[in-house]
Amino acid sequence: MGLLVEGATLTWEQTKELAEYVHFHGIQQFINIYNRLKERQRDVLKWGDEVRPPNYSDVYLPLALILVTRSHRMIWHPEFGRHMVEGTPGKPYGGTMADLNTVEANMRLRREEVLSVLQEDETVSSITVYPRFGCPGFTWPKSEVPAACPDAFSSLFVTSNVINTHPRFGTLRANIQYRRGEKIAINVPIFRDKNTPSPFVETFSDEASSRAALPDHIYMDDMGFGMGNCCLQLTFQACSISEARYLYDQLAPLCPIVMALSAASPLYRGYVSDIDCRWGVIAASVDDRTREERGLEPLKNCKFRIHKSRYDSIDSYLSIFGEKYNDLELVKDEKLYEQLLQAGIDHLLAQHIAHLFIRDPLVIYAERIEIDDEQESDHFENIQSTNWQTMRFKPPPPNTTIGWRVEFRPTEVQLTDFENSAFVVFVVLLTRVILSYNLNFLIPLSKVDENLKSAQKRDAVRQSKFYFRKDIGTGGNPELSCCCPNVNNTDSDNEEFNTDNEEFTLMSIDTIINGKEGVFAGLIPIINSYLENMYVDVETRCSIFNYLRLIRKRASGELKTTSCWIRDFVAAHPHYKQDSVVSDRINYDLLVRCDRIARGLEDCPELFDKPINKSKLPTQPNGPERS
Ligand code: ADP
Ligand code: MG
Ligand code: MG
Repeated sequence: MGLLVEGATLTWEQTKELAEYVHFHGIQQFINIYNRLKERQRDVLKWGDEVRPPNYSDVYLPLALILVTRSHRMIWHPEFGRHMVEGTPGKPYGGTMADLNTVEANMRLRREEVLSVLQEDETVSSITVYPRFGCPGFTWPKSEVPAACPDAFSSLFVTSNVINTHPRFGTLRANIQYRRGEKIAINVPIFRDKNTPSPFVETFSDEASSRAALPDHIYMDDMGFGMGNCCLQLTFQACSISEARYLYDQLAPLCPIVMALSAASPLYRGYVSDIDCRWGVIAASVDDRTREERGLEPLKNCKFRIHKSRYDSIDSYLSIFGEKYNDLELVKDEKLYEQLLQAGIDHLLAQHIAHLFIRDPLVIYAERIEIDDEQESDHFENIQSTNWQTMRFKPPPPNTTIGWRVEFRPTEVQLTDFENSAFVVFVVLLTRVILSYNLNFLIPLSKVDENLKSAQKRDAVRQSKFYFRKDIGTGGNPELSCCCPNVNNTDSDNEEFNTDNEEFTLMSIDTIINGKEGVFAGLIPIINSYLENMYVDVETRCSIFNYLRLIRKRASGELKTTSCWIRDFVAAHPHYKQDSVVSDRINYDLLVRCDRIARGLEDCPELFDKPINKSKLPTQPNGPERS
């Protein structure tokens, strides 16, 4: 969650004054990194995950601090909410297949480390959204919001007690609202059940909320509703800057697909919603654009009309292969763009950075203003780390041996270490086949954005169709040829394969993941053919089989997504009144069930199969288990 520096943060007035300074020096710092490391080659694959599980315990603990002092095996970071903690492996994984077989054990260790510092009546849960976040009494100790809002920005549901005490987080929360000029407003469509009032309208005590809350929506008014959520992120080191740019582009169209597959967040503020993923909620929760920037008023004091929140999907591809699919209007700071071009940076990279830099700094540390642009990158990271997009292009930090990296950020966190490992291993293997087979998933970014909207809809895995490239075997990196067997088994007579001249067509997640005769080879079959040509020890092969089987069955609908499972749990609860309300009791029972599943005390055959052991490993990866 960006730079955590000891020391005081500036007020919003002071921060505003320094925006131009941070922009100028941030760009300079990027230019310095670029010039120093643009030729850097032959970095090996390293990668790592970040799991952000909340700790829904009875008392607030500065969890990350306790963990930091106790643990040398894992890396712990505080997160936005005091109930949250981010855990990453102590050191990144490497490029061998056997590394894939250490992920789950590492995640289990992380879970055990957190549990070891909790009291007996506390637990840690890897859930994406706490279902009753913002409901009366949802924290312990109880912190009730005052009956009358103390100022125009204060939340009706969340007090600052929920926010981590590190100054970064409170300052971020305050400055987002100051910059926006009005209260955060998040509206999520309510799931319409038999007894849900129609229209569903809530009344609120403050005027701003009454104005902002939409009928038939669950209304939320604080950054905590978004940044208090959790997820699973993956960072990959590429061998060079150009490989990183290629990988960034290729993974971007896969973000909505993996998001839909990992869907895990149907409940908000004690209600059943009509969405399955957190993304749009977080986007709205940190939307610091002014009314002018959002296009609600003509531009007068602001520089740009900005189309998206700071937390949203990417707006441009970075590689020359992606250039022709850049069909979104890219708002950029022209002055900074010129500064980058002058320094010899190419158009695509320069526009990407100049686009990130349309955002103002939100948190500045008093002691980190005058720094050496050759040796430090705080001002660059300031802007970079508050652009929370589906993909992140990460330059090497100065004075480290770290190379050019890309981060894959859409995945929702799953209940168990097994499921989280399955998603991690699936995405790692995707990067391997993309690079080994020189695959090409690029479609126009406007279509990727449409997919991202579809991905968040209720039951998107089974109900939505996604734009996907028909021929993934050509045009990836033209300098290399595609060498993947059977990626091009497309057949224009098939109904799922319309005969127009577009490079893409609408496909189901099942087709994309598992393939369909005559339409698309399928990502898992492609991964399997890659694995057949690799030496993989039998233990690792077995784990990979179990992980890919999970992805396969989630995609086909044979297994439920976490979201679907949570919905069904609520619907079947004896206290549920078919009115879209998730009562305290339902919430409690759900979380106890999640906890028992995560600790391995209960199976959940609707969510995942029991892993098979190596003696049962089929010789054909898609063989007997498929039936
Ligand atoms: P951020 O919060 O900025 O996204 P973190 O440092 O929390 O980044 O985590 C990034 C992930 O990258 C961790 O899982 C870590 O193990 C991994 N990682 C660390 N060094 C490298 C590297 N050189 N290449 C790739 N991944 C790395
Ligand atoms: Mg992190
Ligand atoms: Mg991250």
